[in-house]
Amino acid sequence: MTATTAAQAAYIVAALLFILSLAGLSRHESSRSGVVFGIAGMAIALAATIALATRSISTAGGALLALAVVIGGGIGLWRARVVKMTGMPELIAILHSFVGLAAVLVGWNGYLEVEAHPATAEMTGSLLRIHHGEVFVGIFIGAVTFTGSIVANLKLSARISSSPLMLPGKNLLNIGALVAFGVLTVFFVIHPSLGLLIAVTALALALGWHLVASIGGGDMPVVVSMLNSYSGWAAAASGFLLDNNLLIVTGALVGSSGAYLSYIMCQAMNRSFISVIAGGFGIEAPTTDDKDYGTHREATAEEVAGLLSEASSVIITPGYGMAVAQAQYPIAELTRRLRDRGVNVRFGIHPVAGRLPGHMNVLLAEANVPYDIVLEMDEINEDFADTSVVLVIGANDTVNPAAADPGSPIAGMPVLHVWDAADVIVFKRSMAAGYAGVQNPLFFRDNTQMLFGDAKARVEDILRALEREGSPNRVAVAVG
Ligand code: NDP
Repeated sequence: MTATTAAQAAYIVAALLFILSLAGLSRHESSRSGVVFGIAGMAIALAATIALATRSISTAGGALLALAVVIGGGIGLWRARVVKMTGMPELIAILHSFVGLAAVLVGWNGYLEVEAHPATAEMTGSLLRIHHGEVFVGIFIGAVTFTGSIVANLKLSARISSSPLMLPGKNLLNIGALVAFGVLTVFFVIHPSLGLLIAVTALALALGWHLVASIGGGDMPVVVSMLNSYSGWAAAASGFLLDNNLLIVTGALVGSSGAYLSYIMCQAMNRSFISVIAGGFGIEAPTTDDKDYGTHREATAEEVAGLLSEASSVIITPGYGMAVAQAQYPIAELTRRLRDRGVNVRFGIHPVAGRLPGHMNVLLAEANVPYDIVLEMDEINEDFADTSVVLVIGANDTVNPAAADPGSPIAGMPVLHVWDAADVIVFKRSMAAGYAGVQNPLFFRDNTQMLFGDAKARVEDILRALEREGSPNRVAVAVG
């Protein structure tokens, strides 16, 4: 068996492992094995690619390759070890940008190599035209992914505002860029030139930036999975250029699964798929919110403890603030204590609560909150009306009744109907807006009270207050 055949066989095994990995990651119980399959597939793919490459490069080239693997692998390991759960989406976004940049460089290399050595490339006629088409499409998808992912990273890490950029005629700009891309492709396939290549790279870089900048904070979850899909297609395009079957298969897997995930998320958030992938196409500028919502009421931890000791049912709706404060541990303790007193405690999880899908579920599982009391939004939304107290812990957009207002940037997004409960306690540090930058009328409702401060510290205060409240009984029992 030649080395090339062995490498192709290894690629098939790696592709199968990637498919098994995706299947494993689709279910809670099998997700760990999904990760193991993914790691094994990637290790095989890397080993086969390096083995193949070292056959045709010089010793110096081999040393550079080894250096790149060691430096890249080292940085990857370090970042993955130190990243906090709340920082995962921005890390994923920046990793997507690398795939995009790689696709641009592979495209440029594909063009320059054939131009420099037309005889070695052995490409003429329609084969050459197909090659030029691949170069152009690869660079376009890669550059859109590159700048789009950088903007996503900047928005998610709060280094730029998460509100949508509303340039005049933004939809026309996007459509114009797509038409220009089509026209440039035709010209390039017929008369390839460096000028056209520079033009398409600049056009795609600007389009990627504009597409993601035009999408508001509330829709960022869909953007992250959409860029995941784009990065897959960029990798597949590079696979065609490099004649690498594994890159084509893997790119198509990532591209199609990312597109499907974006579609499911759009359905869950009542968003138009086409509108989101087209950079908020058809979404009008949000009306400025200068409404006077009135005044809010504040509660102390002792008062909340008092409410909780009277309650028969409690629903906790966590959000990003719970993750920031790492409040899941005292919340799990509070849950245990209330359940011991016979209170029916449940959790209501919004599909995009936090900064990545499943964020809240992972944190609550980490703190050993029983799975069976953690319910999805659709499973619990009807029950708020029969609930004594709702604790909104570090959540904001996901409990915002403004979603029912057609002029709101989060219009149409399904939210948890926490305001239907008898009493609502909102844990947060200030009256600041949530990630989508929208004021929340919930805070000003008659049945809502704000408990300001770090969520973890406030839940611990409540635990202490409950303890104080409970201790006379304990003494009485002990004496009796
Ligand atoms: P939000 O971002 O809407 O609100 C979080 C709230 O937590 C803030 O209002 C903040 O208020 C409060 N907070 C922050 N730190 C603390 C702390 N230490 N203690 C107490 N409170 C704190 O979060 P939600 O989870 O409700 O909504 C998620 C948002 O993120 C949605 O808009 C969603 O679209 C978006 N998003 C979701 C992704 C996903 O995949 N799930 C990915 C990307 C974005 P204050 O500063 O006053 O304390």
